[in-house]
Amino acid sequence: MSVTVVGSIAFDAVRTPFDERQRMLGGSAVHFALAASFFADVHVVGPVGDDFSQSEYEVLHARGVDTADIERVPGGRTFFWRGHYDYDLNVAHTDETQLNVFADFAPKLSPASRDCDVLFLANIQPDLQRSVRRQSNARFVAMDSMNLWIDTARDALRAAIAEVDCLLLNDAELRMLTGEPSLPRAAREVMRWGPSHVVAKQGEYGAALFAGDGFFALPAFPLETVLDPTGAGDSFAGGFLGYLAAHNAGSPSEDVLRRAMAYGTALASFNVEEFGTERMQRLSPDEITDRVAELRRMTTFVDVPVALRG
Ligand code: AMP
Repeated sequence: MSVTVVGSIAFDAVRTPFDERQRMLGGSAVHFALAASFFADVHVVGPVGDDFSQSEYEVLHARGVDTADIERVPGGRTFFWRGHYDYDLNVAHTDETQLNVFADFAPKLSPASRDCDVLFLANIQPDLQRSVRRQSNARFVAMDSMNLWIDTARDALRAAIAEVDCLLLNDAELRMLTGEPSLPRAAREVMRWGPSHVVAKQGEYGAALFAGDGFFALPAFPLETVLDPTGAGDSFAGGFLGYLAAHNAGSPSEDVLRRAMAYGTALASFNVEEFGTERMQRLSPDEITDRVAELRRMTTFVDVPVALRG
């Protein structure tokens, strides 16, 4: 069981209404890898600069993540993102993006990364996503993206989407991408382009899965304190796809997909409890199991027939 992820490996500067950090380990591939590492072997593909030190690698190694395909560019600087959140923590405001080493990155997968069960093309330039996709033998390929690429690289993004099994995107971005105000219609439209699965991420409201004619949704885990929502989508993807990698990734059944949604929801909820990767670094398997059980109790009910008045 193995998962390969390509995406940003970053230093993030983040301000929320509660606190801020100037330069912490982040990036879509990092958040994803830490979450997926609870389920499967994880290979990370992406470039970093000279400023990426041993202590950053250590965070990934501590969770057993394979960093052999992290390419160190001599003289280069690591991708940098600065963003902030106002009281609506569902909306990230980007203040600065420095692509740095990503500007000239040509991904090359090692045999181990190529032969994974599941491939995740985390948020990055869509042509880079396609180049990784073409090198992979994965049985299930999923991708994420963001408004930046919908605005600036729409054709490349459409081409990338056509080549994957699953698209995960924020609900607002799904509407923006398809021009469809109704979420079910937007998901069905994307499915006509190629993917058999679409996950609409809805921030604190949870996530919804469209697969074939089927539909399943879960609310986010109701946390009283959210310190930093950065990486929630990627840790959701890590839990969701990590679970799929561990359970017959090629053609997941509806039951497996539903459980994968629950694990994605649980992993995302831990990630946002603290800044950056702080909470994920000391997360334990038992905490995940307990949270999924609690989520199940919160979201099931027993239907008893009642006499309804006509
Ligand atoms: P999420 O909150 O799950 O959507 O992802 C947050 C992560 O995305 C942060 O750690 C950033 O480093 C990373 N990120 C922000 N903008 C970009 C971008 N344009 N390309 C790739 N990664 C990005």
